[in-house]
Amino acid sequence: MTFNELKISEPILRAITEKGYSQPTPIQEKSIPVLLQGKDLLGCAQTGTGKTAAFAIPIIQQLLEDETRNKNHRKIKALIVTPTRELAIQIQENFREYSKYTDLRNTVIFGGVKQGKQTASLRQGVDILVATPGRLLDLIGQGFITLKHIEYFVLDEADQMLDMGFIHDIKKIIAKLPPKRQSLFFSATMPKSIVELSGKILGNPYKVTVKPEQATAEKVEQAVYFVAKADKPKLLEYLIIEKEADSTLVFSRTKHGADKIVRKLAKAKITAEAIHGNKSQNQRQRALSNFKSGKTKVLIATDIAARGIDVSELSLVVNYDLPNVPETYVHRIGRTGRAKASGVALSFCDIEERPYLRDIEKLIRQKVPVVNNHLYIDDRKESEYVKPEKKPQNHNRRKKTPGNKGNKNVWRRNKPKNKPKQS
Ligand code: AMP
Repeated sequence: MTFNELKISEPILRAITEKGYSQPTPIQEKSIPVLLQGKDLLGCAQTGTGKTAAFAIPIIQQLLEDETRNKNHRKIKALIVTPTRELAIQIQENFREYSKYTDLRNTVIFGGVKQGKQTASLRQGVDILVATPGRLLDLIGQGFITLKHIEYFVLDEADQMLDMGFIHDIKKIIAKLPPKRQSLFFSATMPKSIVELSGKILGNPYKVTVKPEQATAEKVEQAVYFVAKADKPKLLEYLIIEKEADSTLVFSRTKHGADKIVRKLAKAKITAEAIHGNKSQNQRQRALSNFKSGKTKVLIATDIAARGIDVSELSLVVNYDLPNVPETYVHRIGRTGRAKASGVALSFCDIEERPYLRDIEKLIRQKVPVVNNHLYIDDRKESEYVKPEKKPQNHNRRKKTPGNKGNKNVWRRNKPKNKPKQS
């Protein structure tokens, strides 16, 4: 199937051809014709499948063909709500690129930054708005935005939205939408809470499920290194140098772990940056653009922070820690091998993580090849391994607070022995 056969209009076709899209991805093939007929859509798909274009192209096309367009010129007619700033920016960039040969205008709003630039852009009038929920409600409250002209509504990454506690915001936004509209709802997973939420938004939707999991796992060259926990930093250093990858995304299970990896690499004179939930929006954005532009070649990320990051031509993914949820592995390695490209994903597996590896292999229905000849190999058998006992916790210790360093005597020691005399 070609984009021509999908009846994409000329200005959009020209823009996507310039972007190098020669063929629609499966989700585009399934969704675009349905959306062009004005139907609601429930998409079980995640970033990496080409889903942004799957909704952006038909929205742009319908806006162009809309006869009432002149009446609502530069009023917000399409709204895309997405959980994070990174995703919002990415989606808006896609809209901008796909609509570059049209006169449609779009902008993006998100929290964590001053609102001045965003409200200035809104004042000029836009047709398409990409937003995170909090800032959207905030600017609606201040009177900068009205949703009464919305004809197209997209709720993106719904499961992540609920994970991040946005459910009340979402309900408030839905309540402000005109009833007559086309609605699209995307989620990587479909637990009961998500299905319920989708019922509140969608009429009788067309359902599309795209499972990038197996497909992605097959495209990516994978390998696992059995290594002791203590040797992981050295192995990472070695691989970064040996593989000479232009861009390496390293996954760490914890935020603290991510920072620690950055420090260890710095000692080996390898520049890396970390993105995770404890970093400010600005720090995250800076780290991400440095990585995208190639200024930083190594980015360390936690799963939540990395979800949805779209870095084209990401050459290497390293699972510094194996995730205990096997689906997470597939999401991670899907960061490389995007759309048509193929990539390499290397995983470090310490002896305690071997059960996680078995779960992953079950899910992807393939064995991950083991690298048997590396410098830091840990060839112990699981049966020989005895988990070290944890040191007993001393529950009598006082909790650390800024004024209390956890030592009972601090207060007494810091107290002045003699009260200064009043004169
Ligand atoms: P998304 O799932 O929307 O984040 O898209 C993932 C990546 O695939 C992005 O880098 C898109 O630019 C790219 N992409 C989307 N559609 C196509 C296509 N039809 N052909 C090639 N690349 C595409």
